[in-house]
Amino acid sequence: MNNFNSDNNPQSSKKRIFIGLLGMTFALIMLLILAGGWIATIGLNHLHPSLTPIAKIVAGVTFVVLSGIISALIFSILLEKELPFTHKIRGLGIKLFLPMMELLGPRLGISKERVRNSFIETNNRLLLSGNRHKISPDKMLLLLPHCLQMADCQRRITTSIDNCKQCGKCNIDGLIKLAQNYKIRIAVATGGTLARKIVRDHKPKLIIAVACERDLTSGIHDTFPLPVYGILNQRPEGPCWNTKVDTLEIEKALQTFLKIP
Ligand code: SF4
Repeated sequence: MNNFNSDNNPQSSKKRIFIGLLGMTFALIMLLILAGGWIATIGLNHLHPSLTPIAKIVAGVTFVVLSGIISALIFSILLEKELPFTHKIRGLGIKLFLPMMELLGPRLGISKERVRNSFIETNNRLLLSGNRHKISPDKMLLLLPHCLQMADCQRRITTSIDNCKQCGKCNIDGLIKLAQNYKIRIAVATGGTLARKIVRDHKPKLIIAVACERDLTSGIHDTFPLPVYGILNQRPEGPCWNTKVDTLEIEKALQTFLKIP
């Protein structure tokens, strides 16, 4: 594992939130299975006595499988190492556990935004842990949100980012230069539909996406199994308005994932 993220920073607390919620989600699922199994066995016993042990075996197998998946996911996050099936486990985390964690978090006093934040961080760490093969620049897509563009700029950069005259008033200018330096593709999306179209058109192998917690989470969810490395935008003037991004953070991600000659 490279040292892209160090352990003594806020990323570690996001990791702890994710692992804590994951453990609680698992406990909740098991409680539901136990309660459902107990109720079912009463009814099944009336139908046929042999159905009760079958229900117990099904519950036991579910417990063992889910325990294995959760343990592997937690170890993978803690050790920041690629374990067997890391990729599939990341998928399960995204598809199965995240929606449950988004429901559970606010009930435990953890806002949806913090849950998503911890998910994005964990997703990034899992991607980094599995990052053994660097990709060529033409397979990389840098996907940006429209709100990075200065609100009063008339250039239609969603049609083509080449329409930007690179006046330097917003981050788009620096990001175009970055994309040119690293010879990667770059695009701006106004929302999920356009983002999905851009991804279909470009067919990247890895996306570095900039957005808010909500859009990054849904983007990572929608494009799975395609890997998306998420970078949060900064919102000094509030959401969706003249947002900014740390260009250096994007450059570090590019250096981590790109095959640089
Ligand atoms: S750099 Fe200038 S021209 Fe380009 S999008 Fe930003 S404000 Fe518009």
